[in-house]
Amino acid sequence: MALLNRVKDLKKINIFQEIILKARGVSDVVSLAVGDNPGPIPELVIEELIEEARLFLTPGGHKGYPPEEGTALLKELINQVFYNGQFSNEEIFISDGIKTDLFRFQTLFGPSAFSRFYAPGYPTYKEGCQIIGAQTGAIYLDPKNHFEPDADLVAPFDVFYLCSPNNPTGIAMSEDQIRTLCNKAKNCGGLIVHDACYSPYIQTKKPKTIFIDEGAKECAVELGSFSKWAAFSGIRLSWAVVPKEVKLNDGSSLLKAYTSFLNATFNGVSWLSQKMGCTLLKNTHLFLNQVQLTMQRVQEMKQLFRSKGFEVFGGIDGPYFLVKTEVDFLEKYKILTMPLSSFEPDYEGFIRVSGFVSEKNWQIITTRLQNSF
Ligand code: PLP
Repeated sequence: MALLNRVKDLKKINIFQEIILKARGVSDVVSLAVGDNPGPIPELVIEELIEEARLFLTPGGHKGYPPEEGTALLKELINQVFYNGQFSNEEIFISDGIKTDLFRFQTLFGPSAFSRFYAPGYPTYKEGCQIIGAQTGAIYLDPKNHFEPDADLVAPFDVFYLCSPNNPTGIAMSEDQIRTLCNKAKNCGGLIVHDACYSPYIQTKKPKTIFIDEGAKECAVELGSFSKWAAFSGIRLSWAVVPKEVKLNDGSSLLKAYTSFLNATFNGVSWLSQKMGCTLLKNTHLFLNQVQLTMQRVQEMKQLFRSKGFEVFGGIDGPYFLVKTEVDFLEKYKILTMPLSSFEPDYEGFIRVSGFVSEKNWQIITTRLQNSF
């Protein structure tokens, strides 16, 4: 038995684990590097989870495999809450994470698909392609242009991995930019895979979904996740929207191919996770308040860095922003931050700051930063 060389070449740990290791052994560290919502999960969601779990105590209430593509109720709620009911249940697939779904699409498209994405960006767009042996091309976001994405710079592609609002910049695409990218996809026969992980954090009028026009349904799929805004990263729950209008080069339906692919390789997401998702989507105020609180912190934090003379970028429509600095915050102030060069080597001299901070750590960090510079 031998491993693919491409897999051997991967880093042993990912950039997020790498940064946590950096702080090992340093006492009293507080982190601004965490890309994980600290929670808590609302009590009502937990109560309904327990009720659902109790059903499994009885032979009559026990359930076996869930439907491979997800429960009808959760699909309906996602459709109502995020898409104004524009999709059929058949076009929505429940999954256990965007990361899983990204690699599913990468595997489905195979090594001959040429993929593009903005950089710096979420590492799986590149690494997943690397594993399957597919070529990629990055479009580098320019600090001189405030890390704003420019769809006019995008050359032809088979697949474009779009993250809007983007991790690590916290900047979302405008309607015009989305339209330009969709037109490019149609002109080159490519597909956009929109990672909408952070969409509910959008504060401006920028679109929360790529499906702003009927035409987008011919050239895009969208991935959504409960990880970031619902603090479900430990629960695992996400979805993929694959519009019936997307056609492959031979004229066949992507939806049909994806359905068969999924049924052959996946046995569905836990009933319990899906129940939790349903409870949350029936009570959207439970997460919308939390989202607002996080974005408020991002703004306060940006203000704090600005007031100390740092140049900051992004953090407008997402829970992250960038700071231009050569300061080693860990060594000097015991504050862990994420170097932007971990995402992309050419971005030395910037750090990513995260708004995912627990109440307790928020107090400590504010005091430390205020007294530090
Ligand atoms: N996409 C982006 C842009 C992310 O930042 C992350 C997590 O950090 C993920 C996807 C992973 O999402 P999930 O927990 O749904 O797998």
